[in-house]
Amino acid sequence: MNKNITSIAPSITLAITGKAKQMVAEGKNIYSFAAGEPDFDTPDFIKKAAEKALDAGETKYTPATGLLSFREAISKKLKDENGLEYAASQIVVSNGAKHSLFNVMMTLCNVGDEIIIPAPFWLSYPEMVTMAGGTPVFVHSKEENDYKMTAEEFKAAITSKSKAVVLNSPSNPIGCVYTKEELEKIAEIAVANDLYIISDEIYEKLIYDGMKHFSIGSTSEATLRKTITINGFSKSCSMTGWRLGYAALPVEMVKPVSALQSHSTSGPNTFAQYGGLAALTDGEDPLATMYPAFVQRREKMFKLLSEIPGVTCIKPMGSFYMFPNISSTGLDSVTFSERLLEEQNVAVVPGAAFAADSNVRLSYACSMETIEQGIAHIRKFLENI
Ligand code: PMP
Ligand code: GLU
Repeated sequence: MNKNITSIAPSITLAITGKAKQMVAEGKNIYSFAAGEPDFDTPDFIKKAAEKALDAGETKYTPATGLLSFREAISKKLKDENGLEYAASQIVVSNGAKHSLFNVMMTLCNVGDEIIIPAPFWLSYPEMVTMAGGTPVFVHSKEENDYKMTAEEFKAAITSKSKAVVLNSPSNPIGCVYTKEELEKIAEIAVANDLYIISDEIYEKLIYDGMKHFSIGSTSEATLRKTITINGFSKSCSMTGWRLGYAALPVEMVKPVSALQSHSTSGPNTFAQYGGLAALTDGEDPLATMYPAFVQRREKMFKLLSEIPGVTCIKPMGSFYMFPNISSTGLDSVTFSERLLEEQNVAVVPGAAFAADSNVRLSYACSMETIEQGIAHIRKFLENI
């Protein structure tokens, strides 16, 4: 068997989310903070657009890179909202941002090429690099820097084998958001060293306290030429099950990424693309209900977690996760999470999945009631240790 595949682990985030959903389905009273997906239904106007497409017989293959009208709408969105000038021909739509990232890693890596990944990281990045035959190189960011990779740390990780750096702002699992100034410094170093920047911006709309999302590709033309911008519809439009995401690519990557997709999955689901098109062009805000709820839940969860003796937590500026440090319990994150589920019916994701064994990840994509009751149970768990 292929060692690049047999050496990787299954996605723990998907496994734990699935396990918690299964326990709820079995009638167990579980307080689940595991979900890496919004708990809201997809907005109606998006569902209607997909239904309309189905009714109109839009049930056939689209071009392998996605519908032209959809790619044009994405190109316009990136220009208007993010200041990024990618032509529609530079967009490849895929079955989720995860698939886009996979295509990109497969296209970029030759054996031994190094991909720099700030840690803690979203768990799929290093596994994708390994599958592609590359070598993930981790930059362990510090709690006092809000777990953000500094320009100096980035510079120190670069070798003659470095090929690209992965950035994820707002981030999963930490929720940290890089400022314009921080990104400008990182961009300058990447360009000077001829590295690609893989910028995963899937949480761009989930950003709080007046902070602004900034796309690293907009810092200069030279940066844009080396930047792959990844985004999708799962988080901002609550469309996780639709499997729809995209990569905006430097010109030289378009042909190989398109060829890879054309021989592996073909184009993404046709009627899902019509839903995505409506999300971008219909003028309705897909976050109208969801965003205010996340704002309130973030406040509540942060307050309740911060009140637990022995737990420290940075207030995250983006995404829908909190990443408290639980090291004072003396338990590693996997034991902590297993015991918490067994003893208090609370599901969290162990930080070990993200290279941070002192932390656990809690998602606030759940009801206020779950936040109040579930955190009371976490408190009880800590009192009993
Ligand atoms: N990037 C990050 C940081 C994520 O958390 C996720 C979670 N699903 C993805 C990419 C992939 O999203 P999707 O494939 O659902 O578009
Ligand atoms: N990205 C989400 C998470 O981190 C969903 C699960 C996954 O795709 O890994 O939980």
